[in-house]
Amino acid sequence: MNPFQFTRVTTPKAAISAVTKESGTYFLAGGTNLIDLMKREVIVPERLVDINKLPLATIEKTATGLRIGAMAKNSTVAENELVKKNFPLLSQALNAGASAQLRNMATVGGNMMQRTRCSYFYDNTMPCNKRSPVQAGPDKGEPNGPTGCGAIGGYNRMHAIFGTEASDRSEKCIAVHPSDMCIALVALDATVNVSGPKGDRKIPFIDFHRLPGDMPQKDNTLQPGELIMSVDLPMNSFAENSHYLKVRDRASYAFALISVGAGVSMKGNTIQDVRLAMGGVAHKPWRLTAAEQFLKGKPATEANFKQAAALAMKGAKGYGENDFKLTMAPNSIVEALKTATKTA
Ligand SMILES: Cc1cc2nc3c(=O)[nH]c(=O)nc-3n(C[C@H](O)[C@H](O)[C@H](O)COP(=O)(O)OP(=O)(O)OC[C@H]3O[C@@H](n4cnc5c(N)ncnc54)[C@H](O)[C@@H]3O)c2cc1C
Ligand code: SF4
Repeated sequence: MNPFQFTRVTTPKAAISAVTKESGTYFLAGGTNLIDLMKREVIVPERLVDINKLPLATIEKTATGLRIGAMAKNSTVAENELVKKNFPLLSQALNAGASAQLRNMATVGGNMMQRTRCSYFYDNTMPCNKRSPVQAGPDKGEPNGPTGCGAIGGYNRMHAIFGTEASDRSEKCIAVHPSDMCIALVALDATVNVSGPKGDRKIPFIDFHRLPGDMPQKDNTLQPGELIMSVDLPMNSFAENSHYLKVRDRASYAFALISVGAGVSMKGNTIQDVRLAMGGVAHKPWRLTAAEQFLKGKPATEANFKQAAALAMKGAKGYGENDFKLTMAPNSIVEALKTATKTA
């Protein structure tokens, strides 16, 4: 590993000023992704700012719902009684991620910021626009390995089927966002509270992560020096009927091929309200708004679920090895809805 400076901070203000002062500085939370990337020299920081002593690990009721601190551990959030009672979708999604040991270290903020698991991104000898962007240079970080996209025309079994086109109508990156937790948070209409050199702001969760477009190196809309402080969840009526379905190569310790977060509010057999999001399909957590609109006010039947899934798949595109997702994704949407509505 390359040498780097290490600073431990105890206040958000000190953390923000530490990253603002120097480029090449990263916040260190649980370290389960960042240290991995440093060992492989995909990220070569000049300085780490350890934020583990920041008072940001609380989970508390608010007037409108629940606030979860950015430093709350994934395992703590998953097992919290308020989360289990009111947001079981979040609890299920967290427990579907990684392993018990990793969940004990991983934090909410770190989970949101984790990088893609595309194998070309992790290999400095292979072409990757995310790791070595075309626009790299003195102000944007030196290229780290060849540019291009190894996955397009290469090994792309895990890769995206939605939202891959750049403004020049080519594809620059087809990587998927890897988090399970974030699929539940986008379905539950969460808001991210951040603090930075220019002050505090709120980001709707759906706008936190971004599509690759012409800047695949940028995973999210956080500005330089901004620190994730907490995530707010509005109270909802989905607790009774929710389900997180994760399809993966083995039962534990594997990222999703496809995942679906479904929350449904029912009156008898009629769907009053519904939230749907999918993972393993795009550069960001993928909300299925067309399917949600279709299902509202309709009976919870397999035929309606299939129609909703067909709407959700509009615009999907496979890249060869991941073509199976074009079938697996709609089937997973139907299965998640059947389980959530207890009509399976
Ligand atoms: C073997 C393995 C299997 C895994 N399987 C899964 C899985 O199935 N599902 C899943 O969802 N995840 C999985 N993960 C990923 C794991 O969940 C993430 O590594 C973890 O959530 C990252 O959190 P952390 O606190 O360790 O972040 P760190 O590694 O400390 O940081 C990650 C990034 O977030 C930034 N950061 C951290 N906190 C903040 C903050 N408050 N504000 C701004 N930036 C911040 C850091 O600077 C860094 O860039 C797996 C990981 C491993 C190693
Ligand atoms: S899909 Fe994205 S992360 Fe993977 S090689 Fe292509 S540019 Fe890199």
